[in-house]
Amino acid sequence: MTRVTIIGGGPGGYEAALVAVQNGADVTVVERAGIGGSAVLTDCVPSKALIAVSDVLTEAGESHGLGVRIGGEPARPDLLSVALDQVDDRILALARQQSEDTRAKLTAAGVAVIEGSGRILAPGVVALRTSEGVTQMSTDIILLATGARPRVLPGTDVDGDRILTWEQVWSLRELPQRLVVVGSGVTGAEFAAAYRAMGSDVVLVSSRDRVLPGEDADAAAVLEGAFARRGVEVRPRSRAAGVRRVGSGVEVELSDGSVIEGSHCLLAVGSVPNTEDLGLAESGVATDDRGFIVVDRVSRTSVPGVYAAGDCTGVLMLASVAAMQGRIAMWHVLGQAVHPLDLKMVSSNVFTEPEIATVGVTQAEVDAGDINAEGVMLPLRTNARAKMQGIEDGFVKLFCRTGTRIVVGGVVVAPRASELIHAITVAVDQRLTADQLAATFTVYPSLSGSIAEAARQLHVTD
Ligand SMILES: Cc1cc2nc3c(=O)[nH]c(=O)nc-3n(C[C@H](O)[C@H](O)[C@H](O)COP(=O)(O)OP(=O)(O)OC[C@H]3O[C@@H](n4cnc5c(N)ncnc54)[C@H](O)[C@@H]3O)c2cc1C
Repeated sequence: MTRVTIIGGGPGGYEAALVAVQNGADVTVVERAGIGGSAVLTDCVPSKALIAVSDVLTEAGESHGLGVRIGGEPARPDLLSVALDQVDDRILALARQQSEDTRAKLTAAGVAVIEGSGRILAPGVVALRTSEGVTQMSTDIILLATGARPRVLPGTDVDGDRILTWEQVWSLRELPQRLVVVGSGVTGAEFAAAYRAMGSDVVLVSSRDRVLPGEDADAAAVLEGAFARRGVEVRPRSRAAGVRRVGSGVEVELSDGSVIEGSHCLLAVGSVPNTEDLGLAESGVATDDRGFIVVDRVSRTSVPGVYAAGDCTGVLMLASVAAMQGRIAMWHVLGQAVHPLDLKMVSSNVFTEPEIATVGVTQAEVDAGDINAEGVMLPLRTNARAKMQGIEDGFVKLFCRTGTRIVVGGVVVAPRASELIHAITVAVDQRLTADQLAATFTVYPSLSGSIAEAARQLHVTD
C-alpha cells in the first residue's frame, strides 16, 4: 500500500487525500489550523458568504425600476442596512461548519488527520510538531499543499482593528464608515463592492490605470461604470507607500506623497507562499525567486516522490486549481490515467455585481494575434430575460478558432455569471464548434440564451 503524507488541509490537500484513498493509498493529512484551509476558514468561503449578503442588498436597493418599494418609498440602497456583527457571526459559523463537514468527510473515507505542523526532513521523511511534541514519520510520497497568506506593505503595522488583511475583517463588529481598500485586483474589487453595498463609503486604490488589470478590459469597464454609479471612489495610478493608524482612523500614504484618510484600511495586495519553514532547501525542493514551489503540469517538484499543489506553487491561485493540482498529483503517483493541468480550461469568476466569469483564450491574446481566433460580443440588454429582471449592464463574449470554428474561450458579465460560464467551459473543454453550441437548446427566456445567440453569430456560411 502506498503511504501518502499531505502537509496542508486546504483544497489542494483534502481533495488530493480523497482521490488517494479512493485509489487504495494509506493517507495522512497534517494540518495546523483547520481542515478546509484558508479557502474555507478565511478567504473563499467567508468572502462569498459576505457577497451573498451584499448581492441581496444591491438587488433590492436597485429594484425601484421594477416598482419595488421599501417602507413605502421607491427602493433605494440607503433604505437598507446590515447588522455587521450578525453577518460576521453567521459567516464564521458557516466557515467552521464547512471545515468540520470536510474533516468528517475525510475521516469517513479513511484518511488519518493529524493536528499539527509538518516539515520535510528528507524525501520520504516528515517531521511532525503536535501538542504532544515532535515526531518523525516515514512515507512513500509527500504532497505539499501549504497555501499562502496575505502580503503586507512593508512598514505597515497591521493591527487587525483598523488596518486589516482579508483574514481579519471577519472580526469587525461595526461597518467601517470609510474603508480604503488598497489593491484593485479580484480580492480588492470584491471587498470594495461588498462593503459599498452594505453602506460603507469606499475608496479603492489602484496602482494601475483601471480596476481588475488582469481581467478582460470590456468587463473591467462595465465594473468601473457600476462602481461609479454606486459611489465607489476609484483612485487609479495610485501606489500606496504605507498605511498608518491615526487616532481612531487610518491614513494611506501614496507614493506621490498625497494621503487618503479613512476609518479603516483593507490590504489586498497579493499573497506570499507558506514555504519558509518546510525544509525545502535542505531536501532540494526548488522554489522560484518569490518562494513558490516549482512544479510541472502533473504537480511534480524537483525531488522525486515530493509533489506540490495549490497556492504554495503560485500556478493560479484559485481553490478549484489547487484541488485539481492535488488530484492530478495523486492520479499520477498512483498510476491512474491523468491529463496534465491545462490553464486554458480553468473557468474563474470575479464575484462583484455584475459578476465577471471567464474561460479560455482572452481578448488580449486574440488582439495580439497570439491565437488565430475571432470573437463576438453581445450586450445583455437585448436579452428578454435581462429586460424582465431590469439588467442593464453586462455582455456575453465568445471566441472561436477562425478555421475550425471550435470554441476556445469566452467572457460572461452578468448577475450569476459564475453559473452561466459553465456552458462555455464545457464547449471549450469538449472542443465543440460554435455551431454545436448554437444548436443546443436553452430555456426561454434565459440569460444563457445569449450564449447560444453569440454562438449563432459566429456561424459562417460556406
Ligand atoms: C479573499 C479571497 C477570496 C477567494 N475567493 C476564491 C473563490 O471565490 N474561488 C476560488 O476558486 N478561489 C478563491 N480564492 C483563492 C483560494 O482561497 C485559494 O486559491 C485556496 O485557498 C488555495 O488552496 P490551498 O489548498 O493551496 O491553500 P489553503 O486553502 O491556504 O490551505 C493551506 C493549508 O495548509 C496549512 N499549512 C500551512 N503550512 C503548514 C504546515 N507546515 N503544516 C501543516 N499545515 C500547514 C494551512 O494552515 C492551511 O490550512 C480566494 C482567495 C482570497 C484571498
